[in-house]
Amino acid sequence: MDSTPSGSSATRSARVFLLPMFLLLIPSLVLSDAVQFCDAGYGYGDFACQNSPVSLPRILLRGGTVVNAHHMEMADVYIQDGIIVAVKPNIVVDDDVTVIDATGKFVMPGGIDPHAHLAMDFMGTQTIDDFFSGQAAALAGGTTMHMDFVLPINGNLSAGFEAYKEKAKISCMDYGFHMAVTKWDDEVSHDMEVMVKENGINSFKFFLAYKGSFMVSDELFLEGLKKCKSLGALAMVHAENGDAIVEGQKRMIELGITGPEGHPLSRPPVLEGEATARAIRLAGFVNTPLYVVHVMSSDAMEEIAKARKSGQKVIGEVVSAGLALDDTKVWDPDFITAAKFVMSPPVRAPGHDKALQGALSTGILQLVATDHCTFNSTQKAFGIDDFRKIPNGVNGLEERMHVVWDTMVESGKISVTDFVRVTSTECAKIFNIYPKKGAILAGSDADVIILDPKASVKITAATHHSRSDTNVYDGRTGKGKILVTIAGGRIVWQNGELKVTPGTGKYIKMQPFGYAFEGIDRKDAEYLKSLGAPVKRSRALS
Ligand SMILES: [Zn+2]
Repeated sequence: MDSTPSGSSATRSARVFLLPMFLLLIPSLVLSDAVQFCDAGYGYGDFACQNSPVSLPRILLRGGTVVNAHHMEMADVYIQDGIIVAVKPNIVVDDDVTVIDATGKFVMPGGIDPHAHLAMDFMGTQTIDDFFSGQAAALAGGTTMHMDFVLPINGNLSAGFEAYKEKAKISCMDYGFHMAVTKWDDEVSHDMEVMVKENGINSFKFFLAYKGSFMVSDELFLEGLKKCKSLGALAMVHAENGDAIVEGQKRMIELGITGPEGHPLSRPPVLEGEATARAIRLAGFVNTPLYVVHVMSSDAMEEIAKARKSGQKVIGEVVSAGLALDDTKVWDPDFITAAKFVMSPPVRAPGHDKALQGALSTGILQLVATDHCTFNSTQKAFGIDDFRKIPNGVNGLEERMHVVWDTMVESGKISVTDFVRVTSTECAKIFNIYPKKGAILAGSDADVIILDPKASVKITAATHHSRSDTNVYDGRTGKGKILVTIAGGRIVWQNGELKVTPGTGKYIKMQPFGYAFEGIDRKDAEYLKSLGAPVKRSRALS
């Protein structure tokens, strides 16, 4: 089923050795190379990767501790043709197999990031990381698949899908799509069906924030929830109250607060809590599962906890920024230092981070994403006189695995198997691609990492692989180093060197009716039974 060639004979050897300085200096050159690669006929999974079969290396990972979400064991892992063929102790191989010693290390499924925005047009500009540079950074940090959000074009889903197919041609790792719904009519409703039945999308996102652009009304949200339910697609929600945010922004400007601190002040946790509660209640009213993206406050988290306790099917996603950062630096007198932390919902005051860590460790929140959405200093400076114009977004694709390991495992909050669950397996299960992804099992895709729990990591903007010139984790040190990343059977990260080829990533289609939909029909039947209506009445008046 692998269909990712490395290219025609003319270009097969033209591997891009990704060097951060090279990218920072001449990103356009890398981009144009990449486009050339794709035009040569490869890059888009099922559609364009059929020719030029490539010989993938045979690899043996020897002597490591293999960690799955359900189990941990000492075993070797043998990889061939991009697939994990065997997981057992003492595998004997021929001399021509590449052997990597994993003694004393953890061998884990590559990370899956359910939430990133690459090459996204937003707030008058485009994110600095595209599908190549963002994914390259992800691979250096042990993430081997991400899901991006297709944005409709003028509300049109099909046009958005076509545009993202183009953007993703330069992918160097596997990826999937969610799709945003920003308006409602018969065409949108029809296109949702096409996306699910033909294009491999099984989730739709609704924004309760960003008034005037992405924001949907409750009426539209309800239509979307009903449609999602009928298609077996997961409804996702950005939960902040967009109307109240506009009011909050007005208040800040009137108070003369125009700097980055105006951002969190204008959209406090209560507005996230309100929208989360509303979204949960409306999803409960329709009886369809709900996935709340980037839970940033304890206010929102508490609403999810309450709903889950009552038995409602609500999934809570936390992002690495929410787990590991607070808003202290947003008050920094240096604009760029402050502006680089501007994202929505905002990073919160100290305390929310700890609450979210606790929620992740106890299962109230299920998985960790990044919301990687990078803008460089020049782009952030669009809002130097008005925080409302600072492009929203932070980095995380390269840092997520380290941040989660250090914040959650090294601190003793979760186990090593839980680490695999929250960074990979749970995501694969929710979006219905398990165990092809999210597991080290015979038959799974060869997306594998080797993590050294004893080795230290230092994150800096100077050494990261994103095209951004800033990093919200700049200077952060911690434990848990990704030594090796294997993606689709290729060794792409080893000895601190990244070897990635545009066009090698495959589009992963996702089937509807994932596990969150189990039991929905029985709950519907129970509901109908509970109504005690319609009551049969005689028409004769007594
Ligand atoms: Zn996002």
